[in-house]
Amino acid sequence: MDASALDDDDVFEEQRERVERPMARLFAEYGRDNTGYFVVGLIASVFARVLDLVPPLLLGVAIDAVIRQETAFAFALVPQSWLPSDRPMQMVFTGGIIAGAFLLAAVFHWARNWGWNNFAQHIQHDVRTDTYDKMQRLNMDFYADKQTGEMMSVLSNDVNRLERFLNDGMNSAFRLGVMVVAIAAILLWMNWQLALIALVPVPLIAFFTKRFIDTIQPKYADVRSSVGQLNSRLENNLGGITVIKSANTESYESDRVEDVSQDYFDANWGAIETRIKFFPGLRIISGIGFVLTFMIGGFWLLTYQTTGAAPFFFTGGLRTGEFVVFILLTQRFIWPMAQFGQIINMYQRAYASAERIFGLMDTPSRIAEDPDAEPLAVTDGEVAFDDVTFGYDYDAETDTGERIVEDVSFDVEGGDTVALVGPTGAGKSTLLKLLLRMYDVDGGAITIDDSDVRDVTIPSLRQQIGYVSQETFLFYGTVEENITYGTFDADHDAVVEAAKMAEAHQFIQNLPEGYDTKVGERGVKLSGGQRQRIAIARAILKDPSILVLDEATSDVDTETEMLIQKSLDKLTADRTTFAIAHRLSTIKDADQIVVVEDGRVVERGTHEELLAEDGLYANLWAVQAGEIDELPREFIERAARRRSQVDAEAGDD
Ligand code: ADP
Repeated sequence: MDASALDDDDVFEEQRERVERPMARLFAEYGRDNTGYFVVGLIASVFARVLDLVPPLLLGVAIDAVIRQETAFAFALVPQSWLPSDRPMQMVFTGGIIAGAFLLAAVFHWARNWGWNNFAQHIQHDVRTDTYDKMQRLNMDFYADKQTGEMMSVLSNDVNRLERFLNDGMNSAFRLGVMVVAIAAILLWMNWQLALIALVPVPLIAFFTKRFIDTIQPKYADVRSSVGQLNSRLENNLGGITVIKSANTESYESDRVEDVSQDYFDANWGAIETRIKFFPGLRIISGIGFVLTFMIGGFWLLTYQTTGAAPFFFTGGLRTGEFVVFILLTQRFIWPMAQFGQIINMYQRAYASAERIFGLMDTPSRIAEDPDAEPLAVTDGEVAFDDVTFGYDYDAETDTGERIVEDVSFDVEGGDTVALVGPTGAGKSTLLKLLLRMYDVDGGAITIDDSDVRDVTIPSLRQQIGYVSQETFLFYGTVEENITYGTFDADHDAVVEAAKMAEAHQFIQNLPEGYDTKVGERGVKLSGGQRQRIAIARAILKDPSILVLDEATSDVDTETEMLIQKSLDKLTADRTTFAIAHRLSTIKDADQIVVVEDGRVVERGTHEELLAEDGLYANLWAVQAGEIDELPREFIERAARRRSQVDAEAGDD
C-alpha cells in the first residue's frame, strides 16, 4: 500500500519526498540509544504471551492425565520423582503451576509495558526536541508558505503518531506474531490433522482484513482532509471574530461552519459504515473456524472413544483434553489477528509522520554558516550596502523570479543614523532583514566594518544588532522576562533603567504587579504602543552596536512618540542606526536619508539636501506637512512606469 496516499494535501510534501526508508532511520538514529528498553520489551513480550497459553494447555493435561487417566501425569523438564502420585494432589499440583504461570505472566506483562513505553517515550521526547531545534533554525522562507498550525501539527500529531506506533503498534505486532506462531506450533504438535482444520480461519482472516484496509484507507484520507478543513475554518473564524461581529456575518459564518462540519460528518460516516461491518465479519469467520473444529473434533472424539479408530481419512486418536485445548486456543488468535489492520494503519501513519519529520530535519538551510566563519567584531560600526540585489523567490543563476531590491548601494558611517523612506512595499524592511541575514543577498554584498555578513558567525552578527520591528511579539511571561529576553543576566536596576529610557517605566508600574505582571498570550493585554515600548526597552538593555528600528514607533501616539524619540536620540547618538518611519518628522534629523522606490535607491542626502532637490522625498514631506494634498502626478506615474518595466522584465524570463 502506498503510504503517501494517506496525506494528499500535505504542505510538507516537498520535504517528505526527499526521505528514504524513514522507519529504518527512526530505529537507526533514535532506537539505538534505547536498545535496552527494546530488548526488555521484546523478550518480556514473548514470555508474557507464551505464559498466557499455559493455563489452557494445563487444563488439557488435567483432563487427560488426572481426570480420565488416559495419559501419564508428566511434565517436560520436571523430574518424575517430584510429581505426586495420588489424583487429588496431582490436581493441586497442576493448579499450582497454573497459578505460577498467571503470576509470572503478570510480571512479564508489566516488564513488557515498561520496556515498550520507555522505548516509545524516550524516542518521542528525543524526536520532538530535535525537530523543534531544527525547526527554529530553518530559513524564514520555510515559514513563509506554512501556517503555524501546520508546524504545530508536525511537533504534536506526527510525533504522537510515532509514539503510538512504537508503543501500541509494536506491542500488538509482537502479540500477533507470537500468538499465531506459538498457537499454530502447539496445535500442529498436538494433532497436525485437526490443526489444519482449526487453522482454516487464519488465511481467511488475513484476506478479509486486507480487503478491509484497502476499503477503509481512502475513507480515512477523506476524514483527515475534512478534519483539516473544519479546523482551518474554525481557527480562522475565531481569530477573525472581531471582523465577523463588526461585519454582522454571524449567520453567514455559522452556515459555512455547518457546511464543513457536514462534510466531516459525511466523510466520517463513510468510514464508520465500513468499520462497523468489519468486526461482525471477523466474528463470522472465527465462528466458522470454531464450528468446524467443534464438529470435526467432536465427531472424531466420539468415534475414537466408541470404536478406537479415527473417522474419515484421519489417522490416530484424539483425547478429550486435547479437544478442549483445541477449542480454547483457536479462539485466542482471532483477536490478535483482528488487530492486524490497526497495526498496518498505525505503521502507515507513523511512516508518513516519520517522512515529514525527517524531511524537515533534512531541509537544507539556505543560510549556511561558513565553516571558517569568525565572530563579528564591530569596531566603528560602518555598514555598507554594495550593489545589493535580492528577491524572495529570485534565483540568480537562472534569473527567474522577482527582484524585490535591485543594485542598492549606500554606506553608513559608524555611529550615524540612516533613515529608509519610501512607499509601502518598496523593499525597506527587506533591506534590513538582509542586514540581519534572515535571507542572503542574491547579488552584491553587505559589509559591517569591512566584514561581509556572510563571512561571520550568525549568532555574533545578530548579537550585535538590536532589532525593533512594527510587530512586537511578547512571550508569555513577566514584563521583566520580556525585557531581559536575550540579555538574561541583566539585573533589575538595569531593566528599570532601560524601561525608563523607553518611556515604559510609568505604565509598567501601573500594571497590577508591576514588572512581575504576566503578559503575552494568556497574560494581561497591552496596547500596541505599550508592547512597542517594551520591545524598545529590550533593545536598549541589549546595548547593541547597530540598531534597527523598523517602524518602531508606528503604534504609539504622537505624544508618546515624542517622548520615546528623545530617549531614542540618546540611544542612537553613538551607534549606527537604521530607521524606517512613515512619519517623516521622526527621521528628519537623520544623518542620511535613503529614499527607496520599487527596490531601488532613488534619492540620498540629508533632509535639507533632499528638500532642495524637490524630488520624491520633498513631495512626500510636503504631503505629510499638509502643504499639498497628494503626491504630484509625475511621481505616481513614475512608480507605475517602474512597475510595468519590472513586469515586462519578468515577462521576458
Ligand atoms: P517595505 O518595508 O518598504 O514596506 P517590504 O520590504 O516589506 O517593503 O516588502 C517589499 C516587497 O517584498 C513587497 O512586495 C512584499 O510583498 C514582498 N515581501 C515581503 N516579505 C516577503 C516574504 N517573506 N516573501 C515574499 N515576499 C515578501
